[in-house]
Amino acid sequence: MAGRHFLHVPGPTNVPDRVLRAMHVPMEDHRSPVFPALTLPLFQRLKSLVRTETGEAFIFPSSGTGAWEAVLTNTLCAGDRVLSPRFGQFSHLWIDLAQRHGLDVVIQEEEWGIGASPQNIHDALAADRDHSIKAVMVVQNETATGVTSDIGAVRAAMDAAKHPALLFVDGVSSIASIDMRMDEWRVDGIVTGSQKGLMLPAGLGIAVMSRKAMEAMEAARTRDPLKRCYFDFLDMQKANATGYFPYTPSLPLLYGLREALDIIDEEGLDQVIARHRFLAEGVRRGVKQGWGLKLCAREPKWESDTVSAILVPEGVDGAAVIRRAFERYNLALGAGLSKVAGKLFRIGHLGDLNELMCLAALSGAEMAMRDVGIAVEPGSAVAVASEYYRSADKASSLKA
Ligand code: PLP
Repeated sequence: MAGRHFLHVPGPTNVPDRVLRAMHVPMEDHRSPVFPALTLPLFQRLKSLVRTETGEAFIFPSSGTGAWEAVLTNTLCAGDRVLSPRFGQFSHLWIDLAQRHGLDVVIQEEEWGIGASPQNIHDALAADRDHSIKAVMVVQNETATGVTSDIGAVRAAMDAAKHPALLFVDGVSSIASIDMRMDEWRVDGIVTGSQKGLMLPAGLGIAVMSRKAMEAMEAARTRDPLKRCYFDFLDMQKANATGYFPYTPSLPLLYGLREALDIIDEEGLDQVIARHRFLAEGVRRGVKQGWGLKLCAREPKWESDTVSAILVPEGVDGAAVIRRAFERYNLALGAGLSKVAGKLFRIGHLGDLNELMCLAALSGAEMAMRDVGIAVEPGSAVAVASEYYRSADKASSLKA
């Protein structure tokens, strides 16, 4: 198909040309004396990305799922209880992974369209008098429903319950695009992958762990720790201390990561986060005011700045919109997963993108919707979003 492809799934995201070029390198010896000059700063810079001074970053050649597994298997023991709200496909999958490792997951079912309830977390922890719950697992940004949970509020709820559980957060579709304050919110383990806010291909699973989590790891080893080998933090720590890995790392991805972090630094992390909010707001206004459609996120406070899940009218198959957009307009939209399959389509708006890219996604989705019989007004979402993007005060607030 002539012209460029418009990638608007919520990850993998567009890889900037600079990052593509940075990854285009000949292979080199990963045990050479110069290799640590590449790797050592990366660990430090990943810590800055989640705003921690005391945490410890790990980079696995895997995807986010591998980092999910690493965080749990290094810190918990067989049969340990963990608490986790379930409100979308990714919170479901993380819970499933925990259960398959033999953890006893106390699941809080929340509606798909809302996020973690600090009140429910508080109540469950307050009732857990003997502190049998060892960790709380929360997905910061539920990619399947376009819902963001308030991690600061979850921390406050845990504090109010005076409960010592660890707080583990999935930041796969939020890190480097939605704020994460690891030290301030005392998050004990953060998971992300390379293919979303970090603007890289998939292939890196990243975990950042607090001191408390690393102490829990030591303690777990004296009990009955979950089995792990490839994802063992101790093996990693030993090798990483001098800038090496216990196995062969993906060299191009590490060079790409360095370049992506440069790009984020040049824009400024706060600015990156503000840009995501600004672009997301334009998309949301287009969807609601232009098309008159609803988001899966039930209230504005749950709306995600990295992905909008748009409900299609009753009787229409959301998958048909996605298929039409892909086949006719060269536009990739995100599918409805599991419980919401067919009920919605998703526009990913994260990573390396700007206003016109968002308008293209709205425009293509609108044409595809009309083609499959959804009577949205032609040009309506673009009209609303573009006026929002033009507004000078919004643009200047980004520079503040
Ligand atoms: N968690 C969330 C919130 C995700 O969106 C995804 C993937 O989209 C994952 C976890 C799994 O990550 P990966 O596909 O990198 O293994």
